[in-house]
Amino acid sequence: MTSKKRDIRALTKEQLRTFFTENGDKSFRGNQVYEWLWSKSAHSFDAMTNLSLQTREMLETHFVINHIKVDDMQRSTDGTVKNAVKLHDGLVVESVLIPTDTRTTACVSSQVGCSLDCKFCATARLKRMRNLNPDEIYDQVAAINQESLLYYNHKLSNIVFMGMGEPLMNYKNVLASIEKITSPEGLGMSPKRITVSTSGVPKMIKKLADDAVKFNLAVSLHSAIDEVRTQIMPFNVNFPLSDLRESLEYWYAKTNRAVTYEYVVWQGINDTKEAIRALVKFCKYIPSKVNIIEYNPIDDGAFQQASKKAISDYVSVLEMNDITVNVRRSRGKDIDAACGQLANKEISTK
Ligand code: SAH
Repeated sequence: MTSKKRDIRALTKEQLRTFFTENGDKSFRGNQVYEWLWSKSAHSFDAMTNLSLQTREMLETHFVINHIKVDDMQRSTDGTVKNAVKLHDGLVVESVLIPTDTRTTACVSSQVGCSLDCKFCATARLKRMRNLNPDEIYDQVAAINQESLLYYNHKLSNIVFMGMGEPLMNYKNVLASIEKITSPEGLGMSPKRITVSTSGVPKMIKKLADDAVKFNLAVSLHSAIDEVRTQIMPFNVNFPLSDLRESLEYWYAKTNRAVTYEYVVWQGINDTKEAIRALVKFCKYIPSKVNIIEYNPIDDGAFQQASKKAISDYVSVLEMNDITVNVRRSRGKDIDAACGQLANKEISTK
């Protein structure tokens, strides 16, 4: 019965080597299988063509490969590609390929749904169903890498954990996936090209610092005033800005690396001088830069993108204070692939 079989990708290379010696074969057979599973991203034992039929059948009796399946793929007029990814248990997450002139970025999901309650985010409405396994995160990246080669003729250059879910609430699996993505036996990508985006879970930011991670950290700030932030990101009650600040100071003391703050400016919420002043003050705690992202409406009209003037006020005050700021244009809006729009219909209607 399938359910009795083990997920072969939960095994380390050493465990695979041992499996083969215990089954009367050579340990290097474990290395071959490991290579098929990870750097070659094999979906089935049949694809492992340098193994004998007997070996493949033996693997089949013991294990399954819970590979993701790209169920549906949509391409935006701006070149953005959105994958609806079916997991082995039928649940669906989404991941996005974002091409620009200089880079190709994969935006991947870390959870099915999300346990946080950001009022402006479509994923928050789905509730959290489960965490993704390391291999399910890895597979999203591998699939986008293949699409990048197919459509744009070059490999993926960057990865952002800005799809569905809160990566730091699935800490262990996110880190394990990054280990595979950066390993020469996986995709061999540099951690400098990977950014984990968090809504700001102080305890876990400190853990990242303790674990001396090499990837980049982005924090979805949206407001540097507690009352406002709590209104739009209610979990801020439990993780107030003072705790967030302390964890970021800890991060900087340990890693010596700057952070990026993601920030959307909304009409009547944070388009005030006071809000800008609070952001400038927050940005001075540790070296940081700000990405102002466009708001992608999620249908209920409660939030409206602020005026161009409000955004340019932010930019000029931040620049006056020597804080680097980028205004980011949305990508893939026509196919609901932009930030905060990932909420697969199949899940939301279940
Ligand atoms: N949970 C993580 C990662 C997923 S959200 C985090 O909060 O960072 C990725 C980014 O999209 C975050 O910066 C989030 O604040 C932003 N976002 C969410 N909904 C959005 C929307 N409707 N329009 C624009 N950005 C949005």
